[in-house]
Amino acid sequence: MLETICDIMTDAYKRNWITSRDGNVSIRHHDRDHFYITPSGVRKQTLQPDQFKKIKINKSIHSGWGTADFLYAWEEMPYSDISSALRPSGEIPLHFGLQKEMGQHKDDVRVVVHVHPTYCVAAMHAGIDLSTIVNSFPELSRYTRVAPNVGDVPPISQELADKCFEKLQLDRDGNVFYDIVGIKGHGVVAIDTSPWRAYEHIERLEHICKIVLASGNYK
Ligand SMILES: [Zn+2]
Repeated sequence: MLETICDIMTDAYKRNWITSRDGNVSIRHHDRDHFYITPSGVRKQTLQPDQFKKIKINKSIHSGWGTADFLYAWEEMPYSDISSALRPSGEIPLHFGLQKEMGQHKDDVRVVVHVHPTYCVAAMHAGIDLSTIVNSFPELSRYTRVAPNVGDVPPISQELADKCFEKLQLDRDGNVFYDIVGIKGHGVVAIDTSPWRAYEHIERLEHICKIVLASGNYK
């Protein structure tokens, strides 16, 4: 599936959903305690499977005052010679938080895709909460659950990750209530069981945002 991720990033680049070095994707198989994430700073239109970073998920029990909780940490694992010279995407706090427990995808694969689709970002810039346009477009709401927007947060920050978790309604078992969330002035994050399925949430929302903006009927 790493090749498929390369395909979707090439496609995202062709659609102007990212400039060359933007965007990031992670993928985890349910029976493995590691995930793969795109490297930082590489050109996504020439992304290769052996450039991915392999990230181990370390989970330990933390006992407090009568409570037991889990502590999570990540570390890089050896993968390929090319990969060893690269760093993981700066958005790793976002991906790690969504991959450390797999929630409703626990018997499957989880893919997290982050890109900057033009009309989704334009709609948020125009003051539209992406979750509010769902009701007028059944072809969107039928297949894609859209979370309320995340407001202005710095890129590649823990704050961005935490706000996305909050809006997606991520719980401690890794369940997420929504399929996609928009980050104002920035982009979107979509989650599903394959690269193309996650991509389709973005495509569907992008298409509706384009229609809403073309109509001018959104104030
Ligand atoms: Zn971004």
